Amino acid sequence: MRRTKIVATLGPSTDDPAVLERVIKAGVDVVRLNFSHGDAETHKKRAEAVHAISRKLKRHVGVLVDLQGPKIRIARFQGEGKVYLRENARFDLDTALPPDQGDERQVGCLYSDLPKDVKPGDVLLLDDGRIELGVDRIEGTRIVCRVISGGELSNHKGINKQGGGLSAAALTEKDKEDIRTAAEIDADYIAVSFPRSAEDIREARDLLRAAGGEAGIVAKIERAEALEPGVIESIIDASDAIMVARGDLGVEIGDAQLPWVQKDLIKLARSRDRAVITATQMMESMIQNPMPTRAEVFDVANAVIDGTDAVMLSAETATGKYPDKAVAAMARICKEAEQHPRVRQSTHRIDEKFDYIDEAIAMASMYIANHLPVKAIGAQTESGSTPLWMSRISSGIPIYALTRHEKTCRKVTLYRGVYPISFQSTTSDHAVLNREIIDEFLSRDLVKPGDLVILTKGDLTGVRGGTNALKIARVGAV
Ligand code: PGA
Ligand code: MN
Repeated sequence: MRRTKIVATLGPSTDDPAVLERVIKAGVDVVRLNFSHGDAETHKKRAEAVHAISRKLKRHVGVLVDLQGPKIRIARFQGEGKVYLRENARFDLDTALPPDQGDERQVGCLYSDLPKDVKPGDVLLLDDGRIELGVDRIEGTRIVCRVISGGELSNHKGINKQGGGLSAAALTEKDKEDIRTAAEIDADYIAVSFPRSAEDIREARDLLRAAGGEAGIVAKIERAEALEPGVIESIIDASDAIMVARGDLGVEIGDAQLPWVQKDLIKLARSRDRAVITATQMMESMIQNPMPTRAEVFDVANAVIDGTDAVMLSAETATGKYPDKAVAAMARICKEAEQHPRVRQSTHRIDEKFDYIDEAIAMASMYIANHLPVKAIGAQTESGSTPLWMSRISSGIPIYALTRHEKTCRKVTLYRGVYPISFQSTTSDHAVLNREIIDEFLSRDLVKPGDLVILTKGDLTGVRGGTNALKIARVGAV
């Protein structure tokens, strides 16, 4: 069984129900609804289609709503909607220019604070860094630039500032509206784009709770200032998961910085008991081709070796030609990368103190699982926190999250090595309960007589954070 999870972005390429079913079957654990494109109605329909297929396939699939955030963009060009910028030419950004009046010399921008956020000498990166502009001077609403690196530039392309420092707040009015939509469609995760601080994450969580949503919050790490020591730890602690958003982050800090930043972020998130998604351009060539490049095979495998919970597909599935093949290739690469003993070993957090009883049970389970020939771990859980803690420890043993809550089943779809099982017991007798769980495992062919299993639970079932017991049982002997 594959431990690393796959997040796949939905879009026009997956809207045909037959294609969507093939894509999900190929190994999708979580779908991503990208609110940078499409209206709320389209996203609602897509979420419903996913729920219908997952019911049919009897598989739990999580839903992640990815908010657009304050992505700053240029406005539009006259005529064909694109221009060619020559190196060394003058090219201005003007927040007062009518939005459709761009040409070879200038273009508008709807973010009116841009002239305040930049100063002479700054470098602005357009279209994911494909175009570089050097800021010469500011004249009121006009930013006078010189083209450092030219090329074609078309409508609505993104603007980043090298080194970070654009001051736009993380949650826009559209994001606040989209948070209400996410609550309505009962999303399992909401991704906040461009957060600068833990405060941005808390604000998103408060708005979500006020709208009646229970999703986990994913902080997309894509601004240089979010990486500041102290800031990154507080953002991680305020979130349920982070995303290494390599697209925008690479533009702000430089692509050559990304590999070690990815490794450090994955390690930091895991050590603080949070999940982590590695995202963007993982299988980029598969937008057009049915096979990944060798470099893409290595990129996915390296993220697995770094310890990521999930790897993500963006345009590969949303608008690509081979959405199901991209998922299948990713699944195959993850599974193979997980075979090496180095990614199954743990450093055991031997120096760490535990804060909670359920956390101590989770850690003890993994210590045992990594030292006894255990075949499966069955964690009875209300909120999913026991299996989350368990999966922070590297291991090759499957962790089954047994829960009566559909929402918890969907939430754990993101956690590496954790597999949800809908499970409702009718008894309060612990021996009967253990028997029921082992029977459930046997009926799914997950264990065979004679195998050792670890079972964790609380004395009082139905209490959050109540896990206080760990049992090692032999299948057939309970
Ligand atoms: P995006 O975020 O795809 O929404 O831009 C991911 C990234 O920046 O890598
Ligand atoms: Mn981004």
